[in-house]
Amino acid sequence: MKHYTFLDLGIVNEPYFAELSEAANRVIESGRYIGGREVDCFEENIASACDAPMAIGTSNGLDALRLILLGYKELRMLKDGDEVIVPANSFIASALAVAHCGLKPVFAEPDYDLMVMTGRSMEPFVGDRTRAIMPVDLYGRVAWDDDMAKIVSRHNLLVIEDAAQAIGARSPVKGLFGSHKAGALGHAGAFSFYPTKNIGALGDAGAVITHDARLAETIRALANYGRSPKSDSYDYRGFNCRLDPIQAALLNVKLKYLQRENADRFARATAYNNTIHHPMVKTPLITAYVNDCVWHQYVIRCERRDDLRKWLVDNGVESAIHYSSPLHRSPCMAEYATHPLPVSERLANEVISLPIASGTSVKDASDIGRIINEFK
Ligand SMILES: *Cc1c(COP(=O)(O)O)cnc(C)c1O
Repeated sequence: MKHYTFLDLGIVNEPYFAELSEAANRVIESGRYIGGREVDCFEENIASACDAPMAIGTSNGLDALRLILLGYKELRMLKDGDEVIVPANSFIASALAVAHCGLKPVFAEPDYDLMVMTGRSMEPFVGDRTRAIMPVDLYGRVAWDDDMAKIVSRHNLLVIEDAAQAIGARSPVKGLFGSHKAGALGHAGAFSFYPTKNIGALGDAGAVITHDARLAETIRALANYGRSPKSDSYDYRGFNCRLDPIQAALLNVKLKYLQRENADRFARATAYNNTIHHPMVKTPLITAYVNDCVWHQYVIRCERRDDLRKWLVDNGVESAIHYSSPLHRSPCMAEYATHPLPVSERLANEVISLPIASGTSVKDASDIGRIINEFK
């Protein structure tokens, strides 16, 4: 029986081994191990790839989100206790960032069909104390639409986009500052280059992109002990959240292949959607715009999820659950579990992620689709 691995990072990086080694060696031999050219170059590359004027490399995606929120607090645009809307179906980091910064996460529902937050799904959770929203481009699908833009302008909200899963995605609806790219749709966006992401480092790495020059300057200081690059004084109680040049050099290699990697994911997602025809299985939406979704995960839904998962195991197919618990059900978020979130609960019970990374061919996706069609 053929075995279908969910994800093998060795296989993901194999096409780049030679170039990655060369890049790592360049840093090793340079004698410069913090900041410098590789990091500057990465920041230019990521800003231009994502259609944003400014980028700051960070230690990881969680720190990128926290730096944005803390930057806005230093700029007095957010203050302790302010409410930030976060979809309840996300990775824990989205909510952790808000809670760590003394702000209050208010969990909102996603749209059931799209599995991301939309203006309509979010609206009931917006109140007098809402100051910001954190749309999450979950599974690689941009969480942005005209309704959301209208709510943001009506309530004068900050938009902090968690684009950790969506590098390279393009929104059909223009962002607040004219960009269409994931991460650049709101005031600021965070990326993660955790090794499993569409573009992964060989370790931890992240980035902030923003349209706000004051925020960029504040974040740059906050990420480096709060030290002002101009006056050489410690203006903020900062942190050490810098991006390592060795990771920057590796990411400069991998970023060149962003389009190709995402196109391959799209081809696998299309093969799945074209093959899976089962009355109990709901496949994700593929829209007319190719990069609406960059397929960080390919997620199907089934009310008999656990039985289907067992069927997959019995047939050699590995799968994963993203995520088995909505955020408000995590013990550490209990104080924010103040209202029912039935859509998020339902999704947590129904979702299954199928193999989508390189290592899974288009033919593998069709084969897995046929195995699903035989589920009884
Ligand atoms: C991966 C991820 C993060 C956090 O990124 P790290 O680099 O692991 O800290 C945040 N939000 C979402 C939606 C993610 O998928």
